[in-house]
Amino acid sequence: MAQSLTHEVLILGAGLAGLRAAVELSHRTEGHIDIGIVSKVQLMRAHSVCAEGGTAAVLREDEGDSIALHAWDSVKGSDFLADQDVVWRFCKAMPREIQLLDHWGIPWTRDAQGRISQRPFGGHSYPRATLAADKTGFFEMQTLYDQLLRYQCFKRYDELFITDIVVEEGRFVALVGIHAPSGETVILQAKALLIASGGGGTLYGFTTYSETVTGDGMAMAYRAGLPLEDMEFLQFHPTGLVPSGILMTEGCRGEGGYLKNNKGERFMERYAAGKMELGPRDMVSRAEMTELLEGRGFPGPDGKDYLHLDLTHLGAEVINTRLPLIREVCIKFVDIDPIEKPIPIRPVAHYSMGGIETDINGLTRVKNVWAAGEAACVSLHGANRLGSNSTGECLVWGGITGREIARALPSLPKPARLSEQSWLAQQARLKAIAGRQGQEDLYVLRRELRTLMDNDVGVFRKGEDLAKALAGIRAIRDRAAHAPIADRSATYNSNLFHALELDNLLDLAEVTVMGALAREESRGAHARRDFAVRDDEKWLKHTLAWHVPGSHPKLDYKPVTIDTWKPVERKY
Ligand SMILES: Cc1cc2nc3c(=O)[nH]c(=O)nc-3n(C[C@H](O)[C@H](O)[C@H](O)COP(=O)(O)OP(=O)(O)OC[C@H]3O[C@@H](n4cnc5c(N)ncnc54)[C@H](O)[C@@H]3O)c2cc1C
Repeated sequence: MAQSLTHEVLILGAGLAGLRAAVELSHRTEGHIDIGIVSKVQLMRAHSVCAEGGTAAVLREDEGDSIALHAWDSVKGSDFLADQDVVWRFCKAMPREIQLLDHWGIPWTRDAQGRISQRPFGGHSYPRATLAADKTGFFEMQTLYDQLLRYQCFKRYDELFITDIVVEEGRFVALVGIHAPSGETVILQAKALLIASGGGGTLYGFTTYSETVTGDGMAMAYRAGLPLEDMEFLQFHPTGLVPSGILMTEGCRGEGGYLKNNKGERFMERYAAGKMELGPRDMVSRAEMTELLEGRGFPGPDGKDYLHLDLTHLGAEVINTRLPLIREVCIKFVDIDPIEKPIPIRPVAHYSMGGIETDINGLTRVKNVWAAGEAACVSLHGANRLGSNSTGECLVWGGITGREIARALPSLPKPARLSEQSWLAQQARLKAIAGRQGQEDLYVLRRELRTLMDNDVGVFRKGEDLAKALAGIRAIRDRAAHAPIADRSATYNSNLFHALELDNLLDLAEVTVMGALAREESRGAHARRDFAVRDDEKWLKHTLAWHVPGSHPKLDYKPVTIDTWKPVERKY
């Protein structure tokens, strides 16, 4: 067998959710704990470092903001699919998370009075996106890691690509992975596992996400028997830079930026006059697509027509101090200085509202596995996340799961050993992938999958397109079995990792499209041309997708927790 190591707790993923959980576990146990933190890239390269605009929290109750207002905004933003007990818990917990980061030394941007700055964000009724310029995620990650370094109770497994989450007899047993620098197989066993492995943004071609964000943890959990919840709800952010898809943070509009069409009109007047550019993301993205489809955009490369994000009226001072990254990216990538010229943008795949189903404490249906952050679906965002609620979710449920795991540890049985049967099954799968023969090219297949998702599972959807997409995904899966791994080397075999990622993306694509095809209504980010209205009678429920070995996924549903606000028409 391969190298086998044991810890008390394993954290799969070193983004904001994983690091926040590690800090909580360390604090709660005063460092008397043994944690393994796994990342397929270098620890500080988790995607969270890219978070830009801010983290939502109520810090100005004295001036008119309130926890109830934040909760209402989030529930309304979710198109009433969020679980309301979860939303309340989140909004109540957030102010403390901001203060904790402050105590731990994060350089929050400050106003003239020295108070922590907040900016407006889409769908929020009050400026509550707490910012560190437009590099919020980077500073949050640095601050959390800095805290973690106070304890010597964790071991880093950087560049360890996990291929399997092994659950035996209803209990988590081990992670199995390949250490990229050596090619060695590693088995990690523990009493408890936290899955904090991020979203699946690269399911789409035009995306804000790094190439490494391939939904591995979600797909592995799904194959291990855990259901995925609400996967059909995929967020399109209104301002992806054309042609690369790099995010132009909502902070640009929070600072006062305009969206304009080719007639120079601020077109949001027609779609959400009360909020204008700061409508919720699903509505702004639909408005932009309508403008583009009706010919009011600018012609762009490869059919990527675009609109304008205009910051020119904000002036150099605001752009240089509050949006320096945006300016730098625009100059470097499209040779446009936003102080002088508008930025070319269009809707871009941005965020997985769905994920591994958990209860309100982040616990999954396997009693020693928790999930947090974008990989999880605790059901905070429902059908449409509000901007700046995601980094917050990572902090709150990183903290909650850290605390819950610390509490559970004394009563959890000691780590089990990976069985011979599971080991052989994992090795057989890898051998089958490594031994694939044929004429297909997995990079071509990956591109085809992403193009198909861009074209047929986008901002607006139709039954016939979704059915076509589903058939296409299944055809790509069949063809992937004939896409050989050309690279035979042991070290940094990214060719093999890409094949594993493609398999993961295919699982997620199938579940996403099946959920979207079944859901015959429009709600939040899921907008069907053929079922254009929300149907609370039939569809006010969460989708659960279960893996069925050797067959298609099985869909199932569960109720939404509605304890405060009954669904009403969503107007802005
Ligand atoms: C450009 C951009 C800007 C954003 N800005 C904001 C913002 O301003 N405010 C906001 O609230 N939200 C924002 N978001 C969303 C937010 O950043 C993410 O949802 C959040 O950071 C996800 O954190 P995470 O900890 O769940 O996962 P990640 O940070 O993605 O971390 C995932 C971890 O899992 C590891 N991993 C994954 N698969 C494997 C595997 N197979 N083996 C081993 N390790 C693995 C990775 O290496 C990584 O360490 C933004 C998103 C993008 C794309």
